[in-house]
Amino acid sequence: MTTFIEKVNLFVDEAARLLNIKQDQLEHLKTIHSLIKVNVSVVIENEIKNFTGWRAVHSEHILPSKGGIKYSPLSNQNETEALAALMTYKCAIVDVPFGGSKGALRIDPKKYSKKQLKSITKAFATKLINKDFISPALNVPAPDIGTSAETMEWIKETYKSLRTSDINYRGCVTGKPIHAGGIEGRLEATGRGIEEVVREFFRNPKLINQLKLNKQIKDNRIVVQGFGNVGNNLSLELYNRDNAKIIAVGEYNGYLFNKQGIDINKLYKFFKKNNHINNPKLGKFINKPSEVLELDCDILIPAAMADTINETNMNNIKAPLIIEAANSPITYEADKKLNKMGKIILPDIFVNAGGVIVSYFEWIKNLSHIRLGRLEKRYTESKLLEVVRLIEKITNTKTDDQTIKRIVQGANERDLSNSGLEDAIRLAFNEMLEIKMKLNISFRKAAYYLSLMKLMKFYKKNTLVK
Ligand code: NAD
Repeated sequence: MTTFIEKVNLFVDEAARLLNIKQDQLEHLKTIHSLIKVNVSVVIENEIKNFTGWRAVHSEHILPSKGGIKYSPLSNQNETEALAALMTYKCAIVDVPFGGSKGALRIDPKKYSKKQLKSITKAFATKLINKDFISPALNVPAPDIGTSAETMEWIKETYKSLRTSDINYRGCVTGKPIHAGGIEGRLEATGRGIEEVVREFFRNPKLINQLKLNKQIKDNRIVVQGFGNVGNNLSLELYNRDNAKIIAVGEYNGYLFNKQGIDINKLYKFFKKNNHINNPKLGKFINKPSEVLELDCDILIPAAMADTINETNMNNIKAPLIIEAANSPITYEADKKLNKMGKIILPDIFVNAGGVIVSYFEWIKNLSHIRLGRLEKRYTESKLLEVVRLIEKITNTKTDDQTIKRIVQGANERDLSNSGLEDAIRLAFNEMLEIKMKLNISFRKAAYYLSLMKLMKFYKKNTLVK
């Protein structure tokens, strides 16, 4: 099987050929720019425990470089490098002005207490900060698999104690809790961004007709694999904002099925309380986890892990539309096959960019030291109220208080971050779609094409040392 980094590079090569990018420039673009490997030693229960960690910087054409930190027993250097590369291409597609980076620690976080994880995180962060692999100006991590807002707060505290005179210390990580400098909407951003992708797809009748889908989101059957941060948030957004019919939700131990559509609000509450999805009141639980991908449905959203659609199951995939919420959920070989089968695959490097888009807004908030919307909210409200009163006067009518409240309401931080997220997703989708239609290529090729087109503007020979 093609490895993760080989796969990413194959996609890059295919797009580069269409753009006639020269080999030397391409090599420069594809190569990891810097990499640190650290040994993190922490005393736990009177024993020294050693953990290997990495932070890879794939690109620095715009600083800081950006990307999550993942805690997993399967973490390794190759995967970290591949994920760093994805961040470069992802940020370029959605016009987020960051280079690409990624970090990982080889650890099973479930095996340690919160106190122990805090010590391990602080020790890891200290190593990265001391080598300038974490800083608001150079390299800004975010949560990923196995890490959370709290992990980011621990990293921020470590940075603050080591760099006491950096006034922008809160911008050294994103995805923080609100009280620690986070932004409203960040936790849900990846899921909501994916929902915006679905919405934009359904604004295009040509694409809907090509796949013979029903015109409205709510009339299509959706299957989601993974009910973690990405899976549960995208399901909640689709269910509550689009009335979507999610007929199956998959987890590591099986899937919940309900032909009529699962009540996602109830499932979410149940999942948060019990940490599993086996609730007979909401659907039938079938303990064959991989079968969820092969269900008869219209939209399949893998939101759990890499390589889940591969040579063993690619021929059994029935959904005509596959939306890659997870990073790299389809192998290179399966991707080729599914394209031949006439499926449309919306690629990870675009689909799950919501998190980094809202991370960008959080970083801006941290550097500007002011909550988004703080200055203009009330001003906007008073001006809009003037307009409403003027219309009432001219038309000699009276508007009820409830309606007035709704119309004049100025934007708060969540409104603004959601609005910026929607804008970034819709713009990039349409840029990609234009390329796809013009060159008659897949969405994935169009995504890489768009990304390279934007990146090549930075990689001019005259910016390199001669
Ligand atoms: P998470 O750990 O919160 O959720 C993953 C979920 O998948 C868990 O509930 C887990 O139990 C479940 N799972 C594990 N094995 C499974 C299996 N075999 N079948 C079905 N479900 C299984 O992680 P997440 O943050 O939701 O990330 C999911 C994917 O999205 C990853 O590929 C991640 O890299 C990617 N991603 C996440 C973000 C983000 O903001 N969190 C951003 C971009 C990309």
